[in-house]
Amino acid sequence: MTSDNLQDKVDITFIGAGPTGLFGAFYAGLRGLSVKLIDALPQPGGQLRALYPEKTILDVPGFPAVKADNLVGELQKQALQWNPILCLEERALGLSPLHNAVGCDDPLCWEIQTDRAIHPTRAVVITAGIGAFEPIRLDIPSLKKYEGRGVDYFIQDVDAYSGARVLVVGGGDSAVDWATNLSRTAEHVTLIHRRDGFRAFESSVRDLYASPVDIKTHYELKAIHGSDHIESVTISQNKTGEEETLQMDRIYLALGFKANLGALKNWGLETTNQRYIKVNARMETNLEGVYAAGDIALEEDQDPLNLIVTGFSEAAVAVNHAYARLVEEGSVFPGHTSSRAVPL
Ligand SMILES: Cc1cc2nc3c(=O)[nH]c(=O)nc-3n(C[C@H](O)[C@H](O)[C@H](O)COP(=O)(O)OP(=O)(O)OC[C@H]3O[C@@H](n4cnc5c(N)ncnc54)[C@H](O)[C@@H]3O)c2cc1C
Repeated sequence: MTSDNLQDKVDITFIGAGPTGLFGAFYAGLRGLSVKLIDALPQPGGQLRALYPEKTILDVPGFPAVKADNLVGELQKQALQWNPILCLEERALGLSPLHNAVGCDDPLCWEIQTDRAIHPTRAVVITAGIGAFEPIRLDIPSLKKYEGRGVDYFIQDVDAYSGARVLVVGGGDSAVDWATNLSRTAEHVTLIHRRDGFRAFESSVRDLYASPVDIKTHYELKAIHGSDHIESVTISQNKTGEEETLQMDRIYLALGFKANLGALKNWGLETTNQRYIKVNARMETNLEGVYAAGDIALEEDQDPLNLIVTGFSEAAVAVNHAYARLVEEGSVFPGHTSSRAVPL
């Protein structure tokens, strides 16, 4: 397939508008490149907006404490000052080279196929994070019946939990943060986790233990009861097998997400450590002109360090190297921003 809208070609397209893609879009605009951002979700922000918009983040430089949703707002403002093209609710499905296509006089040219359109671009930065968000589900009767009717995998509307009896299931950041957060407005929050200890930031765990959340370790969810809405749940102690029934209105299942690169797996990209796109120190993939940055990218033989701040840095590295490739005699080093006019 070749693109029939080559005149719409941009210099650089980011697949994924999470924090990495947003900062990359800003950086590319700063360097004078034309930019497009594509994201499958209806809003930019990636995991921050979809998974923990209310959480206070403590490890972003320049912000001693910042709510995830506010950080995304600032990133968006910073990126949008260069007027990138924003394509939301569009899932990238395919990536093909157009280097030798008729009508494409550019030696570097790609086309991205989404479920809505075809996007020609000179360079691509894949900032797709953990890929498509696919929550891990539990194999228990009637779970499906209550999905979207009391059982949530993402919390989008905190108000829906206000005054409710809430069961949170899980032991990671999402479970810990949301249990603490919801306990401020819910009637009662119970957190169950099948193991001892939580895999979350230490400060978040401290906040959890200081909150009114009823914490039950070594417990698992066995059944959900009710009519058209949830009325109670059965949980069991996984060491003794003892079961308890608790009156409940809502359940937040925070068991994590399946890392699913989805269609990206078929793009001819080399991967490493099972789910990561393999990059070198310039954030280049094995495909010329295609870069990856953020949670989706990993250098071979390195340990993953999936943080917002590492994504920012990787986005800057990818963009500056892409610039040097796209612009004749373009330098990787951008100079310092204080030496140029920045629109505010
Ligand atoms: C509960 C929780 C708390 C956290 N707390 C912190 C913290 O305090 N500090 C910290 O530094 N990090 C924290 N993290 C980690 C941080 O959120 C990630 O490192 C960061 O979001 C990675 O950003 P990203 O832009 O690379 O990917 P993501 O945020 O995952 O964004 C990727 C985007 O790509 C889109 N996408 C994926 N596939 C496609 C496709 N095929 N087509 C179109 N769009 C696509 C997705 O919809 C998504 O919007 C936390 C994570 C969680 C889950």
